Amino acid sequence: MAGLEDLYRETILDHYRAPRNRGELPVPPAHKVEGFNPLCGDEVVLYLEVDPDTDTVRDVKIAGQGCSISQASTSMMSAAVKGKSVAEARTLTRAFKALMSIHESKIGGDTDEVDVAADELAGVRLGDLEALQGVVKFPVRIKCATLAWNTLTQGLDEIDA
Ligand code: ZN
Repeated sequence: MAGLEDLYRETILDHYRAPRNRGELPVPPAHKVEGFNPLCGDEVVLYLEVDPDTDTVRDVKIAGQGCSISQASTSMMSAAVKGKSVAEARTLTRAFKALMSIHESKIGGDTDEVDVAADELAGVRLGDLEALQGVVKFPVRIKCATLAWNTLTQGLDEIDA
């Protein structure tokens, strides 16, 4: 398993050093949304361009600063949701947060929650995002990993409204 952890660490560092989709989009038509994790000082800025006709995330750009976990997670999130439908982006968000809560509830020993989370995860391919599952060993860092996703949800909700 040490080999897998090394691979995960490498994936996280790769996204941290060379973040995908870094930049800005003109607002409007893009929607700008910001997230902040005061526990760690992480900042995430997202520019979301959703095509209202197809309900598709046409483009995503990211900015902000913070720890390697928060910035790598933001980079991975941007790559994962770009070109996806809003519904797919929301499913991916739930799956990723389930990945985080599976381990959280394992720590707490709550098996019911594990089942719910496993169902949610079934059939969703997380790809690089799986590299972040090691984060759950450090519960204080989970907010670093989920910041990008909570910010994405906020942005999609604001666009919907
Ligand atoms: Zn952080």
